[in-house]
Amino acid sequence: MICLGIESTAHTFGVGIVAQDGTILANQKMVFVPPKGGIHPREAAEHHEKNAQTVFQQALEEARLKIQKIDIIAFSQGPGLGPCLRIGAVISRYLSQKLKIPIFGVNHCIAHVEIGRLFHNLKISDLLTLYVSGGNTLICAFDQGRYRVFGETLDISIGNLLDVFAREAGLPHPGGPKIEKLAQAGQKFIELPYIVKGMDLSYSGLLTASINKFKEGNKLEDMCFSLQEIAFSMLTEVTERALAHTEKKCVLLTGGVAANKRLEAMIRIIAEEHDAQFYNVPPALAGDNGAMIAWTGLLHAKNENSLSMDETRVKPNWRIDEVKVTWGA
Ligand code: AMP
Ligand code: MG
Repeated sequence: MICLGIESTAHTFGVGIVAQDGTILANQKMVFVPPKGGIHPREAAEHHEKNAQTVFQQALEEARLKIQKIDIIAFSQGPGLGPCLRIGAVISRYLSQKLKIPIFGVNHCIAHVEIGRLFHNLKISDLLTLYVSGGNTLICAFDQGRYRVFGETLDISIGNLLDVFAREAGLPHPGGPKIEKLAQAGQKFIELPYIVKGMDLSYSGLLTASINKFKEGNKLEDMCFSLQEIAFSMLTEVTERALAHTEKKCVLLTGGVAANKRLEAMIRIIAEEHDAQFYNVPPALAGDNGAMIAWTGLLHAKNENSLSMDETRVKPNWRIDEVKVTWGA
């Protein structure tokens, strides 16, 4: 069985093709970079619409497959930006009907966890995941049939915090990698608000304070260093508490922000202190991509019926814990 998966929740339009045994046959994408400012949902959707055909062809070429060889279609049904999600959904519905093959809707956050689990060959019950990206900040673990949320942001995501601060400081998008580089030259720690509420985090106050302190004349390198230390310590505190509570054997770091070496070092330390194995997902699979959607589609297809056309409506606010994980132990 071969699944073609479409990712289109935000800036990335991706098409992945994955075989039943987990072999990734193709993983192609094009990423929308806003000419200035943040990501406007309609502009990103237009980008996806314009490039879908090209990415689709590239994926089939990479897999050396004809479209008739695809057995099922999976698409990112949410959470994400409505206009972007709808592009992926419309293409998926069309393919499903045209090729007369089943269609499955995939939760984007679950797909991030599942592709990391596939890559490192980890047991679902062993795993605590920290998923940090442009749109999400989530600490979750599988328990009794679902991925349960142990901590999450109450407002903006960690990636958004970094990208918006970078923009205000005159750095190009995406800001995360630039902040990481500048932070290495930071020497002075500047006090900034550290906001953890129970198991949840809040980044909007930290963002405003960071912008203000930068405008007061603090050096950009020192700001980047301090911002990273505070924002990542908040993530580390909550992840550690979730780990102490669940006693999981493995910690998985994924999402675009997982590329950050300072964050990786911090999470690795708490994993080791709790005798858990630390795993990072390589950037090609940690950022948004179609292969993770295709692979999760295959997991759904094992024990579930495909969606009717009515059920393929997109779910911009779909939470990870709303999904029954039928392939879990
Ligand atoms: P995603 O939404 O998963 O594709 O991830 C995109 C986010 O990852 C953006 O907010 C980027 O700024 C962020 N990002 C990418 N590389 C790094 C890095 N080295 N350090 C921090 N953030 C990063
Ligand atoms: Mg993502």
